Amino acid sequence: MERKQLGESGIEVPEVGIGTWRYRGGIGPLRRGLELGSFLIDTAEAYGTEEMVGRALKGLRAEAFIATKVSGGHLRYDDVLRSAEGSLRRLGTDYIDLYQVHWPNARIPIGETMRAMESLVESGKVRFIGVSNFTVRAMQEAQEALGRSRIVSNQVQYHLLDRGIERDLLPYCQQHGVSVLAYSPLAMGALTSKPLFRHKAAMEELRRVSGESGKSMAQVALNWCTSRPPVIAIPKSDQEGRVEENCLASGWRLSQEQLDTLDRAFR
Ligand code: NDP
Repeated sequence: MERKQLGESGIEVPEVGIGTWRYRGGIGPLRRGLELGSFLIDTAEAYGTEEMVGRALKGLRAEAFIATKVSGGHLRYDDVLRSAEGSLRRLGTDYIDLYQVHWPNARIPIGETMRAMESLVESGKVRFIGVSNFTVRAMQEAQEALGRSRIVSNQVQYHLLDRGIERDLLPYCQQHGVSVLAYSPLAMGALTSKPLFRHKAAMEELRRVSGESGKSMAQVALNWCTSRPPVIAIPKSDQEGRVEENCLASGWRLSQEQLDTLDRAFR
């Protein structure tokens, strides 16, 4: 498993982590991922999976990097602190590695939210601050509202069928040392199965690159994501075999020609 710098935190995380939205796989797949070096596990207070993550990491806490999120409806100062306590309790830990604002809330000044996030860092309950579903502008405002801390990541949708962040968010993150946690990197499974009618030709190219490289379609789709320097992919699977497959999307690279082919096909 290749690792990448997490923003400018000075620490490295795997380039393929594990998502847990709608996760129903029990402890097995998460533990298998950990064994294969996929030690970044993403959850959220809104997912209802924090307890499961906590159970999977029992006795293994130090080996994992837990990313969780405070919901956009809980961004008042006291609400952030309360949400963090709830996550810590459900996760069965006394610190969160990466605490992310799940989505912005225009009704609550970002400065108030970031003051709470920073106080969690100061008290040692959170190691790093991240955001999710933030535009470049929202990221800038959030960063400006922080004192000493740096935003290390923005978790946004990124996959072959949705490349919207390539316009400005991805270049911004690259220039400013912010990691992109790519959510739904398999387009919720659409990139692994039968061609969608609308994307038939592009999916055929994906299938062709998969055959040519000897990697599965899922592996090619994930490797395409992580070929972008700031991008860390967090696919979710309930199945141990698929977690293994997704982990093996790292440790090699699609050729430049294959990347160009996919870029053209999915433009
Ligand atoms: P993914 O793109 O990760 O796709 C998950 C789907 O693909 C599931 O149906 C899974 O089925 C299937 N799948 C996984 N691996 C394979 C494989 N190798 N071959 C075939 N099928 C596969 O979608 P998600 O939306 O779950 O995104 C991943 C994570 O991103 C979430 O779990 C969550 O942590 C995060 N996220 C964050 C959001 C945010 O707002 N910040 C929004 C959405 C997601 P099965 O489980 O049966 O294997």
